[in-house]
Amino acid sequence: MKDTQIKNFISAEKKRQKKVVNLIASENYVSKDVLEALGSELTNKYAEGYPGKRYYGGNLIVDKIEELCRERALKLFKLDPTDWHVNVQALSGSPANLAVYTALIPPGGKIMGMSLDQGGHLTHGHKVSATGKFWTQVPYGVDKVTEVLNYDQLREMAMREKPAIIVCGYTAYPRTIDWTRMREVADAAGSLLMVDMSHIAGLVAGGVYPSPFPYADIVTTTTHKTLRGPRAALIFVKRDMRELDKKIDKAVFPGLQGGPHINQIAAVAVALKEADSQKFVKYASQVMKNAAVLAEELKLAGWRIISGGTDSHLILVDTWNGGVKNEKGAGAVAGKDASSKLEAAGIIVNKNAIPFDSRSPFDPSGIRLGTAAETTRGAKEKDMKKIAQRIDKILRAA
Ligand SMILES: *Cc1c(COP(=O)(O)O)cnc(C)c1O
Repeated sequence: MKDTQIKNFISAEKKRQKKVVNLIASENYVSKDVLEALGSELTNKYAEGYPGKRYYGGNLIVDKIEELCRERALKLFKLDPTDWHVNVQALSGSPANLAVYTALIPPGGKIMGMSLDQGGHLTHGHKVSATGKFWTQVPYGVDKVTEVLNYDQLREMAMREKPAIIVCGYTAYPRTIDWTRMREVADAAGSLLMVDMSHIAGLVAGGVYPSPFPYADIVTTTTHKTLRGPRAALIFVKRDMRELDKKIDKAVFPGLQGGPHINQIAAVAVALKEADSQKFVKYASQVMKNAAVLAEELKLAGWRIISGGTDSHLILVDTWNGGVKNEKGAGAVAGKDASSKLEAAGIIVNKNAIPFDSRSPFDPSGIRLGTAAETTRGAKEKDMKKIAQRIDKILRAA
């Protein structure tokens, strides 16, 4: 690269990524092949429209790439193309969710989504997001005592509010979501059921987390978290009389976007093929084992783990309400302080609100940890033990 300023920044960032222990739950490290596709000449091509129906010439090859990406997406999640459609053009997770609502929910309609401070995503109807400006969020959370979903409460809320859509799948919820119960809630209220599996897509692909596909009407996902692809998103839509698939395609283009990023779509295709392998199944199961060990070790050291543990790659630690600083009671460290102390020691996490947080979102009570990135770099249970011990030591000294 001739641009030395950017070149130097890239190489500095590469070094940083190598040096740190990365416990950011939403990050991962992509393969060289994914990078190669991203950095290819495909970025030069305009391809507004869909395969076979483009507004520009010269798209014969690009059509094949997009079709292959769609095929691989359906195959990875064991979907029959006669039952499911997939749109691979959404630029990232947030635009994908916006496209679904734009397609299916009239302005002002109700989105029943988990509130941000309980573990939901901004795009599940939060007021600072466009999704909370154009539609009305019916916010839900977890049970105050168990810190897990209470499906009876959800059902009551849905029956009362009759939302147009119920969104499940979260950014800071470590446990298994009971898709059967979610479907029942949606059916009882006459709502569409959308699963945003952004965080867990790789675990679903690897067969270590229950698949939402038998239950959902729409499944959205980012491709860059546990799925280990480039930054992008997929929107899966059930094909039936309602023709939701056509509406969603139209909402993505021309509704919200112009030309798709073909280099990104090619990179997604590469990642989908990588994920469709025994090697990836092993990876996904190691991610889970690592998270279980990390959670257990922190618990043994005296830290309070939200909901008592994890069934995924993700752990939410209450660093503030730990109790006394002695052998088995962890000290009180606010989330911001915890995250900066850890960063100073080379462990990268993010501060995170815990359910019913008594502190502010800018300095909440907890931190969020995930094992997807470190597992890609080869971390095993014994490494997780060491990381847990380091975290404990750093936080106690804080
Ligand atoms: C990460 C995430 C998104 C948004 O993805 P971006 O690519 O950052 O826009 C949406 N929903 C959930 C549940 C997520 O975890």
